[in-house]
Amino acid sequence: MFAGFYEEIHEEFREVVREFVTREVAPRYKEWDQNHMIDRSMWLAAAENGLLGLAVGEENGGMGLSDYRFRMILDEELARADALGVALALHLHDDWVLPAVLQFATAEQQQAWLPRFMDGSFVSSVAFTEPGAGSDLRAVRTKAVKDDDGGWILNGQKTFIGNGVSGDGALVLARTDGSEPRERGSETSFSLFLVEKQGNPGYQPGRQLEKMGLKASDTAELFFSEVKIPAENLIGEEGRGLEYAKAILPQGRLGVATSAVAVTAEVLRQTISYVGEREAFGHSVREFQHTRFQLAELQVRLEAAERYVAAAVERFNAGELDLVAASKVKLWASEQAKSSVDACLQLHGGYGYILEYPVAQAYLAVRLLTIFGGTSEILKETIAGDLPG
Ligand SMILES: Cc1cc2nc3c(=O)[nH]c(=O)nc-3n(C[C@H](O)[C@H](O)[C@H](O)COP(=O)(O)OP(=O)(O)OC[C@H]3O[C@@H](n4cnc5c(N)ncnc54)[C@H](O)[C@@H]3O)c2cc1C
Repeated sequence: MFAGFYEEIHEEFREVVREFVTREVAPRYKEWDQNHMIDRSMWLAAAENGLLGLAVGEENGGMGLSDYRFRMILDEELARADALGVALALHLHDDWVLPAVLQFATAEQQQAWLPRFMDGSFVSSVAFTEPGAGSDLRAVRTKAVKDDDGGWILNGQKTFIGNGVSGDGALVLARTDGSEPRERGSETSFSLFLVEKQGNPGYQPGRQLEKMGLKASDTAELFFSEVKIPAENLIGEEGRGLEYAKAILPQGRLGVATSAVAVTAEVLRQTISYVGEREAFGHSVREFQHTRFQLAELQVRLEAAERYVAAAVERFNAGELDLVAASKVKLWASEQAKSSVDACLQLHGGYGYILEYPVAQAYLAVRLLTIFGGTSEILKETIAGDLPG
């Protein structure tokens, strides 16, 4: 990010993150990418360095680093190591599941769960999407029914769930009003649960989905068959799940935007270096006017996106980033990442198409950013709905 955005305390934090990424992530990332699974050692090492659950308050043993600039540093340092799968896995845990627990769980629930969020023993997934319900969450069919002892019995299927195989549990959106699953539910048809895998044989990850990029982060189907959920695992109030899911969207979308600028900045840095070394027609590729103009344009686009993301981070830190503002910044940052990384790949020529070049991996990774967490089309619907009459 631009000079002056971070303060000294952030740069000190960056040292810790960089050391962690250099020691624990970079040497193993290729192996995780090939295995389609991040080793638990990454989570445990992140925990040891205080990098999980940054926003957890001191009353629950955390550091209370709710300033989003700390999260951005993780994105930047992971992008520098071309470890974008780890960035995605951490976002799911810290920017989707954790905010729901911090905002809507009771003090007792937080005391029980938050230490495990921070020590690497509970790696979490967000399980909203289903085969027939992605953009339209009111079509969710997964169903929880109250049992005799006040708990719930969960049945259903989720898909595209990050950390779905490697994780220990999921934040599940389920229909709880007994409405007909074939019909779209109402605003109050759904509830949120934190569901644990351990001790629940009916909680089964399905097959891992073969993604085009970000392979280190496992993505899977999840099946729930007669899964018993204790009453104390309901988050907030029954019937308010959709409202809570929408409330965590701004942070989730901000996380996609920060990832997008972090990747773009790193890929542009690598591209400038590459075209400086590569020769054609007796010149470095960087000397061609087209290359210089292209790089100039990419730099300006990056700086504009960074400023926009920085303003959104400030609003988030002030507790003022609403859904429309978060949708705007995700739309802009993810679309510019997609087109910028594409342009950088072109500047690499044939090598850009070869997977051992980070630009090719980044190209496949950023393709997700305009889909996950709200497609660009859905974001535009949200933004259009807010335009002055
Ligand atoms: C790699 C990966 C990881 C993911 N991780 C998770 C995860 O961890 N947890 C989770 O819950 N989900 C996850 N998702 C799901 C992701 O958030 C959804 O794929 C996304 O929200 C889109 O839903 P869909 O795939 O059902 O597409 P659809 O909703 O079927 O959309 C298909 C197309 O129609 C368009 N469309 C839909 N509705 C409208 C409309 N009203 N107006 C205009 N266009 C519209 C969409 O923009 C899209 O272009 C992940 C997805 C992927 C690919």
